[in-house]
Amino acid sequence: MNVPLLDLKPQYLALKRELDSAVAEVVASQMFILGPQVKQCEEAVAGYSQSARGVGVTSGSDALLICLMAEDIGPGDEVITTPYTFFATAGAVARVGAVPVFVDIDPVTYNINPDLIEARITPKTKAIIPVHLYGQMVDMDPVMALAQKHNLVVIEDAAQAIGAEDKGRRAGSIGHYGCFSFFPSKNLGCFGDGGMVMTQDAARADKLEVLRVHGSKPKYYYRLLGGNFRLDTLQAAVVKTKLPYLDGWTAARQANAARYGRLFAAAGLAGKVGLPVAVASRHVYNQYVIRVAQRNQLLDFLKSKSIGVEVYYPVPLHVQDCFAYLNYKAGDFPESERAAVETLALPIYPEVTDDQAQYVVQSIAGFFGK
Ligand SMILES: *Cc1c(COP(=O)(O)O)cnc(C)c1O
Repeated sequence: MNVPLLDLKPQYLALKRELDSAVAEVVASQMFILGPQVKQCEEAVAGYSQSARGVGVTSGSDALLICLMAEDIGPGDEVITTPYTFFATAGAVARVGAVPVFVDIDPVTYNINPDLIEARITPKTKAIIPVHLYGQMVDMDPVMALAQKHNLVVIEDAAQAIGAEDKGRRAGSIGHYGCFSFFPSKNLGCFGDGGMVMTQDAARADKLEVLRVHGSKPKYYYRLLGGNFRLDTLQAAVVKTKLPYLDGWTAARQANAARYGRLFAAAGLAGKVGLPVAVASRHVYNQYVIRVAQRNQLLDFLKSKSIGVEVYYPVPLHVQDCFAYLNYKAGDFPESERAAVETLALPIYPEVTDDQAQYVVQSIAGFFGK
């Protein structure tokens, strides 16, 4: 048997006619830049995400970058985030010339530990970027309370968490900004790169719309320095077409997670394999990440069994070469470092079959001699 980590083909084939005609419509119109398709996509995603406005941008990475630019965050400023995330979270901070300040994670959710944030706030701190890792939201109440107390901007990195919920509130709707990615491996993926910023604030949304066209307003007059951060019209048409199916895919991911839970329990692996814990009310399982001793051996073993597995992420950001100038060292964030050596993502995409899930768990049981 072969179980890929992610297979996008079944989803495409199920919606082929609809997707092909959405793409064909854009092609026929020959209107590839912004226009009504982008606007409709923004309204649909914002509505889905309990947000007043959505601004389509080039990618999830650029969503983070444009929010920092909109807040004039740059040299001399500090931004607090987690070292256990995809690179773009901290990369965006460094690219505007600000200093990423890292705070360790909670070992259960792998999300930033809100209890550790306040100690790292200084007069230079301008923003906090909580990351809803693997599809589970950060507990936003303490984050927002700190932001209010210290007058900070909150940018939710919700790239892995579209549709995730906590206490009735959706990912991306709580901070001053929420950033989504439509990268193909995310829960709502397009046919290339794409992203979107959520905000409840019309003035902020208006500014983002100007920044994504180089700061042009009126046309060919530049008061702000922006860039080309537009969401491609073809990608907007794909996202808009797929959005009505997202809840079904999320339900399938959740069912897959529950099935893994049953299979691991039945295999007697409870003591050997740490399973994901859903603390927030709606975990959308962009990744299903287990924790084991002997992670690297298990990784190689499962690959030899044709099972797609991956480590998210093997090297925490505070010890990446490009951040050496920040002067962190190994040992600074023990929970992030432990997660980096002990965790492993298993296939969780909606179309994983019963047989495939059984094969994954039986293989892990075999590794542990069960
Ligand atoms: C994917 C991802 C991003 C970047 O999104 P792109 O669309 O690939 O640029 C940012 N942050 C996190 C946590 C991500 O998973």
